[in-house]
Amino acid sequence: GDGSGGISTATIHALMVAERTRYAATHPDAAARVGTGVPGFYQGVPMHWMRDWPMPFPFLVANAQGATLTDTDGHVLADFCLGDTGSMFGHSPEPVRDAIIAQAGRGLTYMLPTDDAIAVGRLLTERFGLPHWQVATTATDANRFALRVARAVTGRGKILVFNGCYHGTVDETFVRLIDGATVHRPGLLGQYTDLTAQTRVVEFNDIPALEAALSDGQVACVITEPVLTNCCMVLPDPGFHAALRRLTRQSGTLLLIDETHTISTGPGGYTTAYGLEPDMFVLGKPVAGGVPASIWGFSDDVALRLDSVRARTPAGHSGMGTTLSANALALACMRATLEQVMAPEAYAHMERLSARLEAGLSQVITSIGLPWHVVRVGARVEFICAPGPLRNGTQAEAAHAGPLEQAIHLALLNRGILIAPFHNMMLVCPLTTQAQVDALIAAFADVAGILAQGKL
Ligand code: PMP
Repeated sequence: GDGSGGISTATIHALMVAERTRYAATHPDAAARVGTGVPGFYQGVPMHWMRDWPMPFPFLVANAQGATLTDTDGHVLADFCLGDTGSMFGHSPEPVRDAIIAQAGRGLTYMLPTDDAIAVGRLLTERFGLPHWQVATTATDANRFALRVARAVTGRGKILVFNGCYHGTVDETFVRLIDGATVHRPGLLGQYTDLTAQTRVVEFNDIPALEAALSDGQVACVITEPVLTNCCMVLPDPGFHAALRRLTRQSGTLLLIDETHTISTGPGGYTTAYGLEPDMFVLGKPVAGGVPASIWGFSDDVALRLDSVRARTPAGHSGMGTTLSANALALACMRATLEQVMAPEAYAHMERLSARLEAGLSQVITSIGLPWHVVRVGARVEFICAPGPLRNGTQAEAAHAGPLEQAIHLALLNRGILIAPFHNMMLVCPLTTQAQVDALIAAFADVAGILAQGKL
C-alpha cells in the first residue's frame, strides 16, 4: 500500500466535500448545539477522541438499543462501531440493564465485595482458565497493573511489544519501529522519560527478531494481542503463537495476552479458541456490558512468585488498583454479562452475520476490481484499502489510507451506517440484524462504486 488505496486524490476529495455538505445539511440540530463545540469542554467535547470522527462536527446520541443508534436529528443508524468494542454485545443488553436497576437501589461503590464477586470469581476461572483474578476499571489500567506484576516477579525492567500494538494509554507500550529504529510513537505528548530504554519492539510474525530480543533474559514480559487489531488487522502466521510461547518460556519471560478486542472470537476469547497458554490475561471494554470494568488474571506460578516478592517488600502502596475498581455496580454488570450475554448462542449469531459481512464486502471489492481486502476475527471485520494479507505493523501502517478511509466512513454514515473511526473496523453484536448487515454491504458497494471512477 502507498496510502492512496488505489484511488485518485481528486476523487477522494470530491467525495469528502460532497459528504461533508450532505452531513451538515442533514444535521441541523447537531450543527446548532455542537457545531463549534460544546461550551465548557476543551475542544468542545467531553473527551477529545470524539473529535477524531470524520464528520465536520459530532452528532448527539438520543438513544441506542441493540445495534441501532438514534441521533437528535432523527437519523436511525445501524451501529457497527458499538462504542469501539465497549458495546460489543449490543447497547444496554437487557440482563445488564436489569443488573444496573437492581444494584442502583443497593449502593454503587463501597470498597467491599458482594455476592456477585463470588459468582464472578468462579466464572472468570472457569471461562478463561487462569486461577487468580483482579478487577480494574479500564483495559489500560489492567495492562498497567499486569505489567507491574510481571516486573515485580521477574525482577526484570524491560518489556517487549510488537510494532503496531495498542494496549491503551500505557506509557511503556508507546513505541514504534520505524526504519529499524525504536522510537516514541508519533504524536505522544508530554513524554519526558525515554521509553525506548525499557521497551523493545519487534515486528509481529518475526520469530528470529523475537528470539534475538528475548535471548539476553532481560525482558520481564511480552504483551500482545493474539491478532493485531489496532493497526490494520494482522493475523498471526501459522506457528507464530507456538513459537512465541516457546521463546518466552525459554527466556523466563512472561506472556501477557490482551483479549480486549479479540474477545470477538468466542466466549473464552482467542486464547481459549486457539489453545494459547498465557501467564497473564487482560480483558476490558465490553466485559461488563458497557459499564466501565476490566479484568486481569494470572497463573499459579505468577501468584506464588508474587507472594514471595510481597513477603520481602515493606508494607505500603503497591502501585496497583484505583478507588472505583471492582465496585458493586461493575461486579453486578460483569456477572450479568458473563452469565447471560457472552453466551455461545450469542456468538453463533455474531459468527454467522460477520461471515456474511466478510463475504459481502469481499465480493464488492473483487467485482469492482479494487486493490483492497477484508480480514475477520470472529465478530470483528475490517476492510483494508490495500492488498493483503498484512504480516506486520510496518505493512499495516503503510496500508493506512487516511483521507480515503475518512471519506468512506462519512459516506457510510450519510447512508445510515456507523463504523469505528481510526480504523475500518466493523463489529457484529448479538442483536445486529441480517438487514443491517445487508444495508452495510449495499452502502459499501455504493461508495466503492463512486470511488472506482477515480481508480488509479
Ligand atoms: N487493549 C486493547 C487491545 C485495546 O484495543 C484497547 C483500546 N482500543 C485497550 C487495551 C485500552 O482500552 P481502554 O481505552 O478502555 O483502557
